[in-house]
Amino acid sequence: MTTQASQAETVTLPSTLDEAVAALAATPAAVPVAGGTDLMAAVNAGLLRPAALVGLGRISEIRGWQYLDGHALLGAGLTHARMGRPDFAALIPALAAAARAAGPPQIRNAGTLGGNIATAAPSGDALPVLAALEATVVIAGPGGARREVPVSHLLTGMEMLRSGELIGYVRVPLLHAPQVFLKATGRTGPGRAVASVALVLDPARRGVRCAVGAIAPMPLRPLEAEVWVGSLIDWDGDRSLAPEALAAFGEYVGAACVPDLPPGEDGASPPLSPAVQHLRRTVAALARRALGRALS
Ligand SMILES: Cc1cc2nc3c(=O)[nH]c(=O)nc-3n(C[C@H](O)[C@H](O)[C@H](O)COP(=O)(O)OP(=O)(O)OC[C@H]3O[C@@H](n4cnc5c(N)ncnc54)[C@H](O)[C@@H]3O)c2cc1C
Repeated sequence: MTTQASQAETVTLPSTLDEAVAALAATPAAVPVAGGTDLMAAVNAGLLRPAALVGLGRISEIRGWQYLDGHALLGAGLTHARMGRPDFAALIPALAAAARAAGPPQIRNAGTLGGNIATAAPSGDALPVLAALEATVVIAGPGGARREVPVSHLLTGMEMLRSGELIGYVRVPLLHAPQVFLKATGRTGPGRAVASVALVLDPARRGVRCAVGAIAPMPLRPLEAEVWVGSLIDWDGDRSLAPEALAAFGEYVGAACVPDLPPGEDGASPPLSPAVQHLRRTVAALARRALGRALS
């Protein structure tokens, strides 16, 4: 572990996860930094002025992945650029697609999986994928402690990172079946998602799992639509669905994630604004296309 003092702050550069946790315990005001793409944006905007930093960039154990009993254990330090490469795409295609869509190249080269989860921005591209995959997060704490929680619990606030804890790994089931991530941005070229859809097939459980990102503080799972469409698929046959069924799935997801307003006194729901109608149509189109691609 090395420590460098700069005018404004102390930067500690541990070489193991447990050293990093110890460095956070030794300096409670310290903030962990991985790629720095979110953190430095907050510093530059004057929203954050950390007294000390614990850099995670030299911790080699969290920069790769390993296979464990039908799962992949992904290091929190994996960059978007690394996850976008073909070998990773063969393993978890939807996460690779999300990584390739995450910002411009300089952001993908520095930004990490762990940073994406810890920031938990609605537009975090990895988040709907992790929600659809029902991934879990391995959290490292003081004294070598490890605890594992569903990523959806972290994103919904059911679980929180406690002071001094770090995201160490993300455990993702390997489904060996098609999976898709699609993202709509408000402009051409790289940009933050205004809506995104991750969809995975789970043939062993004869299920379709879908999560919609960017339209709410955390990814939304349209569970009834998942069950409905899963029951239409001939899992032992060609798994294809008619265009009408794909469209109906899209509508189902759109209406579930961008719902009607509560009924007024007359018992009728007030009309949605044009912007909300457009968002619902966008979600529906993404879900329809994602299912069509996964089944094609
Ligand atoms: C111009 C620009 C465009 C962007 N476009 C996109 C985009 O299209 N899609 C997208 O998803 N994101 C985008 N981002 C956001 C950002 O790049 C990602 O969220 C990235 O994954 C953050 O990772 P990082 O390693 O840079 O995090 P950092 O900035 O290093 O850290 C972010 C936060 O997470 C905490 N943290 C980091 N690692 C850990 C850990 N292991 N355990 C606990 N806490 C940790 C830090 O303390 C900090 O609070 C964009 C950012 C910028 C500046």
